[in-house]
Amino acid sequence: MAKLIKNFINGTFYEPLTKEYIKNFNPAIGEAYMQVPSSAADDIEMAVRAAQRAWVSWSKFSIEKRARILIRIADLIEQNLEEFAIAETEDTGKPITLSRTVDIPRSAANFRFFGTAIRHFASESHAMEGQGINYTLRKPIGIVGCISPWNLPLYLFSWKIAPALAAGNCVIGKPSEVTPRTAFMLSEIAKEAGMPNGVLNIVHGLGPKVGKAIVEHPEIKAISFTGGSQTGVEIAKKAGPMLKKMSLELGGKNPNIIFADCDFDKMLSTTLRSSFRNQGQICLCGSRIFVERPLLERFKTEFAAKAYMMKVGDPMDKETVIGSLVSENHLNKVLHYVELAKEEGGTILTGGKQMRIKGRCSRGWFMEPTIIADLPYDCRTNQEEIFGPVVTIIPFDEEAEVIQMANSVEYGLSASVWTQNLTRAHKMAEQLEAGIVWINTWMMRDLRTPFGGVKNSGLGREGGWEALRFFTEPKNVCIAY
Ligand code: NAD
Repeated sequence: MAKLIKNFINGTFYEPLTKEYIKNFNPAIGEAYMQVPSSAADDIEMAVRAAQRAWVSWSKFSIEKRARILIRIADLIEQNLEEFAIAETEDTGKPITLSRTVDIPRSAANFRFFGTAIRHFASESHAMEGQGINYTLRKPIGIVGCISPWNLPLYLFSWKIAPALAAGNCVIGKPSEVTPRTAFMLSEIAKEAGMPNGVLNIVHGLGPKVGKAIVEHPEIKAISFTGGSQTGVEIAKKAGPMLKKMSLELGGKNPNIIFADCDFDKMLSTTLRSSFRNQGQICLCGSRIFVERPLLERFKTEFAAKAYMMKVGDPMDKETVIGSLVSENHLNKVLHYVELAKEEGGTILTGGKQMRIKGRCSRGWFMEPTIIADLPYDCRTNQEEIFGPVVTIIPFDEEAEVIQMANSVEYGLSASVWTQNLTRAHKMAEQLEAGIVWINTWMMRDLRTPFGGVKNSGLGREGGWEALRFFTEPKNVCIAY
């Protein structure tokens, strides 16, 4: 019998009231190994009632007390790093090295960062010359919903939960049903860290069922969501008319723009990461690579040779660079895009196929790192989010031309630019339609900076003060002299 994951409500572990479960797969093995509650509206009702009771005392907790609990959670994640890393890798198929060095340390960092940030959070005052003064009070919202995706499970779940709790809210969290395990482990840690019952509730299940119940519950006053753009639209359709606060972090189709004057070696090693890290399943991956024509042939040859050599294999092997995709469905979606690219006239420089691994992963859902050239910038392959180990190469001659092509998609999450020309770098950064621009780097993150996208990549920003402002309501107090 596979191990059961349970809901965490009011500090207690519960089976879903429906008594229904869904299978949780280890994608590298291709087998179900756990069962996840398929919760529904009644479970959310129970969590909301617990949060309402908890709110009475939690809203009076001092900042210092809240901060200490969050920092204790960070400590406990770090103390159990290996166990968390193994769970994250078994749930997602991502290389264990990545879980150990990025996903889990960053999840701990999220709690530590917001546990510290809240101690420094201050509000504004506006003096009216000779007449009086205004000051802004910032109060927690109350009960908030946090819904996260499968690609960086604990990393993104904690990125929402930590600021929500730091700001003084009670949380109803729902991790992806595809990768629920580390969120379940977080429930255990939260209890150990002294989180009062009902302040953090984690309810598992399907998006259209339990996720929808969170979005529609009238007592949940704000929704922080990360996931696909279409899901974001669905959520906005329901939460909008209820006048809920919303933060939506959605899809991307990010340009990686390479000028001929770049530092080639640094660009190449970073581009391998920005293309294929986490099997290309990071919303920030640079899936459209624009290369200035004088560098095109050299780049194609060396990039394809290096991608071909990347070790795809058992995610538990510390030499593995590319693990399995998250699910069979997702693998099929990505392979479907490779077929589409061929139909659209693309040339596969390397990869393009499912990969069979020997040994215990022989039934896992692996794919070769794939590079496609010769596609027009405006074809479907170059416009739609693929979210897998697939990138395209598009040549360019002029700055204006590459800006137009880079901005031609419906998304606007991030962009990278590689050049040694400072003026050009600033000009490009200013003109790119994106929430985040990296110059001569990728995914270099300072947790204080605003994080999010423009156009169909989202609404609002996470990170630093932006997150703490989102999870609080400002109240202006005006005093006449
Ligand atoms: P998804 O939209 O399918 O699911 C995300 C979460 O929403 C899951 O927990 C899911 O159960 C829930 N959900 C689904 N339907 C819902 C509904 N109707 N109401 C409420 N909740 C619902 O996304 P995914 O496949 O898990 O993740 C991949 C997507 O996430 C990609 O598009 C990727 O670009 C995006 N993403 C964005 C960022 C960012 O910061 N912008 C970060 C990571 C991933």
